[in-house]
Amino acid sequence: MKILLVEDSATLRFAMRNYIIDAGHEPLLARSGEEALQLLENTPVDMIIMDVEMPGLNGFETTRLIREWLAGHWIPIIFVTGLNEDENYREGIEAGGDDYLIKPVSFMIIKAKIRAMERIAEMRDQLNQLNAELEALSQLDSLTQIYNRRTFNELAQQQWALAKRHQQPISALMIDVDHFKLFNDHYGHPAGDACLKKVTQAIKSCLHRSTDILGRYGGEEFVVLLPETDANGAMRVAQAISEALEDLALRHDVSPTTNFVTASIGGATCLRTTGHDLEELIKNADRALYKAKRAGRNRSWVDEVATHKTLLLADTNQDLINHFSGHLQAHFNLLVADSQRECLELAVELHPDLILLGGGIAGTEAGTELCKILARTPKTASIAMALVCESANADNTNLIKKLGMNLLFDKALSGPALLNKIVQVLH
Ligand code: GH3
Ligand code: MG
Ligand code: MG
Ligand code: MG
Repeated sequence: MKILLVEDSATLRFAMRNYIIDAGHEPLLARSGEEALQLLENTPVDMIIMDVEMPGLNGFETTRLIREWLAGHWIPIIFVTGLNEDENYREGIEAGGDDYLIKPVSFMIIKAKIRAMERIAEMRDQLNQLNAELEALSQLDSLTQIYNRRTFNELAQQQWALAKRHQQPISALMIDVDHFKLFNDHYGHPAGDACLKKVTQAIKSCLHRSTDILGRYGGEEFVVLLPETDANGAMRVAQAISEALEDLALRHDVSPTTNFVTASIGGATCLRTTGHDLEELIKNADRALYKAKRAGRNRSWVDEVATHKTLLLADTNQDLINHFSGHLQAHFNLLVADSQRECLELAVELHPDLILLGGGIAGTEAGTELCKILARTPKTASIAMALVCESANADNTNLIKKLGMNLLFDKALSGPALLNKIVQVLH
């Protein structure tokens, strides 16, 4: 086991370190509570032996922070201290300690205590594994008692097949609680769990048809499938969900959006399912969710799944953007970014079919870096890239070679010629 020893006295640190090694374990040393917290950020450990009296954070305070930070994950923490009052013992256990030893402690005692804790940790591992197996067998998410992601997908697949057979529209909503990490950090994980349960009830109260399917898609993300529902209907359900959350009025004092728990909702509608699949519908709902987040959160955004391909046009020069978007807008789902950072974010989140990078970004060091990142990021590596520029000169030809791009479009190209070339690349 990897055992973290937190002890400010160099002598004791040395002695205990040797005990840990002699007991057959690997010691990791911290001289203060602060150092221990820092170490834990990057290194998982199996057990902690903690001094109590230390300058800065004392052992009790450090333990409270560790317990809060590890949330559901339990590791044994043993205090080793000179404080021998009953009250100290009580405080140590309250702070989240599992055992309390009074200094000086012999090697035999340390070894036996480590062994005892190791046994409990093994039981915890077995329990976790059993729980994971049970969860996999179950159709429901254990916290919210709605369908888990796998079951949602199975049931949604059946509804999709029906929609296809009866040529009916179908919609999906992705619902993501806004700033939920801040909620957890502020109110604690158990309060976060309680919040998710209430959010589940609020969403449920807005679904009235027996064919509507609600699932927990991930942490604070929910998904709804709405058979026989067009974009207007999907938008109405999304709005009803936002209102139901508003009615709940769960306080979220650290949310930059409002003082209450809100959600962003992305929706997608397939009017004709022919030529599309369920994954595409969900992916489009996810893209719409991202748009709702970017537009300021606490809102809904519903798109119709079009046969349109998605293009990302990025440059710092507004004239160039206007010129090309004028030609492309009507034919593609066009995303526009005005910086290297925004371009990268949109490319990773929305995976467009083609990126058109303007000379204002491509010609800079930031542009070179951007192309490198896009090429080595699995989600974006296969996206075709073109340079869009004022004119097709030798510099620009060299630039597309240097950046490993596929194509160059300049302003002199006519609209139809541009479309034609893009359609060719996309096939
Ligand atoms: P955004 O507004 O962009 O959606 O930000 P966010 O903080 O909601 O999103 P992010 O994906 O950064 O963090 C989601 C957080 O949700 C991370 C985790 O703290 C919390 N979370 C996920 N699952 C659970 C859960 O089952 N219980 C609790 N209490 N919290 C969870
Ligand atoms: Mg000390
Ligand atoms: Mg999320
Ligand atoms: Mg969120």
